[in-house]
Order: sequence, then structure tokens, then C-alpha cells
Amino acid sequence: MNKTIFERIIDREIPSSIVYEDDAFIAIKDIAPKAPVHLLVIPKRLSTRLDEIEDVQDMGQLFLTATKVARQHLGDYRLVVNVGKGGGQEVFHTHVHILGGWADGAALHDIV
Ligand code: 5GP
Repeated sequence: MNKTIFERIIDREIPSSIVYEDDAFIAIKDIAPKAPVHLLVIPKRLSTRLDEIEDVQDMGQLFLTATKVARQHLGDYRLVVNVGKGGGQEVFHTHVHILGGWADGAALHDIV
């Protein structure tokens, strides 16, 4: 099966700006940011959409990681998950969007 674009990023076949990584997750800067700060938290284990994750540990770890990464860079922020084509999902590899920087002046280029 063809790899998703995020699997190719995880496997370093496509370059990206990685802001966080551990055994189970990677967080990258979104290539087309919709906010001053726009990051994506991506589980390395492939599921195509959020509601495919049935394990409470996996679901909890995803949101714990998203809040941890968000708090490293932002005071207040928005977490968004698009689920399915009708929900605005374009990449079918589960991910959480972190959006912020409107109020506290944070910007993507400040994040290394
Ligand atoms: P979705 O609409 O599936 O929830 O969000 C997919 C996100 O992935 C979009 O915000 C889009 O800009 C981002 N994206 C798509 N391709 C790439 C890529 O190659 N690199 C990075 N960093 N982000 C990407």
C-alpha cells in the first residue's frame, strides 16, 4: 500500500520542520499555516481518521501529546481534528491541528 504523506515525513523521505518527536508521535509545522502558529501532531501508528482509534490509551496519548506540544509554544490555543472528507480532512493519516498565536504574538518562525 502507498505510504501516506505523513508516513513519508516520519520516515524522512519528505523534509519537514519537526518540532517534537518520541517513539509514538511526531509534531511538525504545517506547510500551509492557517494561524500564526500551526502545528500537526501525528501518531506514528497509522490510522486513517480519529474515530478509527479504539484504544483509550492511544486516544489519550494523542491528546496528551498535543497539549504538551501546544504548551511548549503557546499560552492559549485551539485543537482541531478534521474527521473524514466531509469534515475537511485531506490527509488520511490521523492528526491533531494545533492553532494559535493570535493573542500572544507567537509565530511559526520563532519555533525551532
Ligand atoms: P487535514 O485537512 O487533513 O485535517 O489537514 C492536513 C494538513 O496537512 C493541512 O493543513 C496541510 O496544509 C498539511 N500538509 C499537507 N501536506 C503537507 C506536507 O507535505 N508537509 C506539511 N508539513 N504539512 C502538510
